[in-house]
Amino acid sequence: TYGGITATILAISTGAIVSEERPNDNNQIPQLQLPKDPNNKRERIIVLGTGWASLSFIQEIDLNKYEIVVVSPRNYFLFTPMLTEATVGSVEVRSIIEPIRRVLSRLTSRPTTYIEAECTNIDYVNNCIEIETHDGSEAKAKIQYDRLVVAVGSVPQCFGTKGVEEHCIYLKEAMDAHKIRQKIMDCFERANFPGTSEEEKKRLLSFLVVGGGPTSIEGSSALYDYIKEDLSKMFPHLSKYPKITLVQSADHLLNTFDLKISNYTEKQFERIGIEVLTNTRAVEVKKDHLVVLKKAHARPPGEPINATEKPSKGPEVSIPTEIPFGMCIWSTGVGPRKITQKLCDSIESQKNNRAITTDSTLKVLGIPNGNVYAAGDCSTISQTLLMNRINEIFKEADTNNDNQLSFEEIQVLFKKHATDYPQLSPYSKGFAEFFNEYDINKDGFLQLNEFKRLMEKVDSNLTALPSTAQCASQQAKYLAETLNDQYGKDPSTFQPHNFSYKHLGSFAYIGSHTAIADIPQTFTGGGFGVWWMWKAVYLKKQFSLKNKFLVSIDWVKTTLFGRDISRI
Ligand code: FAD
Repeated sequence: TYGGITATILAISTGAIVSEERPNDNNQIPQLQLPKDPNNKRERIIVLGTGWASLSFIQEIDLNKYEIVVVSPRNYFLFTPMLTEATVGSVEVRSIIEPIRRVLSRLTSRPTTYIEAECTNIDYVNNCIEIETHDGSEAKAKIQYDRLVVAVGSVPQCFGTKGVEEHCIYLKEAMDAHKIRQKIMDCFERANFPGTSEEEKKRLLSFLVVGGGPTSIEGSSALYDYIKEDLSKMFPHLSKYPKITLVQSADHLLNTFDLKISNYTEKQFERIGIEVLTNTRAVEVKKDHLVVLKKAHARPPGEPINATEKPSKGPEVSIPTEIPFGMCIWSTGVGPRKITQKLCDSIESQKNNRAITTDSTLKVLGIPNGNVYAAGDCSTISQTLLMNRINEIFKEADTNNDNQLSFEEIQVLFKKHATDYPQLSPYSKGFAEFFNEYDINKDGFLQLNEFKRLMEKVDSNLTALPSTAQCASQQAKYLAETLNDQYGKDPSTFQPHNFSYKHLGSFAYIGSHTAIADIPQTFTGGGFGVWWMWKAVYLKKQFSLKNKFLVSIDWVKTTLFGRDISRI
């Protein structure tokens, strides 16, 4: 032991690797010696995390050029887009996860290392990280890196709302799916208990979902199917009680989707009986009820929102309303993990940031060694740099230096950058139409701020990147390709191209065998056919053949025998 800390329990992936410890003079945390590559040529990249960004990085990086060490407290990859299905047993949790050790052993015959531990500190001055086990033994160690990829994801965000931690269930990790599945059964079995009052039955079978994004929508839809298709058959005497309510603080659902999709989803929820409370802010969660404030001048339920409508800015009704619940799922967005916050606070220029800011090549800003990268939900690309880029593009196009661009100048600019902005090709003939569609039309000229708005609309890479698996994977793939490309080249002269996010579209399941899709320039809408598309896409995207097989079997099982309602 060193200073009372035991450091022998770290699980290292292959039998070929032997761990050895030596005390570290600085602060008693032992240095973990991982054997170096025999010919000592490969640089060591430590990858933090086993989520979307990490896995995409590991799959793409050239293992002949770099040695990879993966550190994460979670020893599996989770296919999050289907987690909501697992909350009700449409698929089993184990069907949508893949052990990291299987992934690593499939990728290479070379020894690779996985350490099940949490990174607790990043010492970017000395190029090493501190790690700690999570099995109660509190074993600690340090490991050196040549390069570090931080892809630790995020944690659910509750904006300091009182009572969320104690009384709500998040919808983020595999364990959450177990908790939700158990809680639903608790509520039904308890409501079934002899002597339970009418009021208590109503409360127990009132299910609240707080949040109006895709996860909340899919969570409530999965719950609706479960109750309609399985539980109401098993508990026919309780079938009049269950109620699902979605609480959303904004004035419409699915803010990041096309408005047509929001309206479609609200109509579908109205049709199947999921209550949607828009303009309603959850302010406190108590043991068995949610306290909400409803904004005044709220749009009446069921009335479609249109593109010209401004979000309701009316005052909140001062009298808080209480909504009783049996189960409350909280899904209102994501925030930084402890390690993310710690890293930000340790960098002078990033103090108090809530995501690790990188440049457009995903290098963390403010780290002198320049060998730390961040990707996925824990990171963001510097808005200052993006603004500089917009300024540069503007200046380049402003040939007569009058601080405004004419349509002709913009047309020339976009033609020049045709490969960067392929989404503009349909407009190459009629730019007036283009400006109308993008709602920017001012006497034939654009000032810098209008140009910025235009650029953000046509190039989603110039706005804050979305916290999605799609974006995390694209970033990680880009980073691995850049490092592969950089290998053996002089780092002082190597200039990688900038990361560019390409939005391929989004899907969401909205209950009763209906899904919605928002695919840029291709399709926006919903229906039964889209549900099949959704199924096909998610099946195809499963991580391994094993996952594809298990998910297919689960779907067949659910169709033939219904979902399992055992409370295990
Ligand atoms: P994650 O995938 O969360 O991975 C983070 C990893 O870091 C984990 O392995 C974690 O254990 C590890 N880690 C945490 N702390 C540490 C530490 N201190 N040291 C080392 N490792 C650490 N996106 C879509 O594009 N489409 C969808 O349909 C979709 N559906 C979703 C449904 C649900 C229910 C949820 C929760 C999310 C969904 N998302 C979807 C969002 C998507 O899952 C995230 O954007 C994505 O997981 C981000 O990837 P990441 O690699 O940054 O983080």
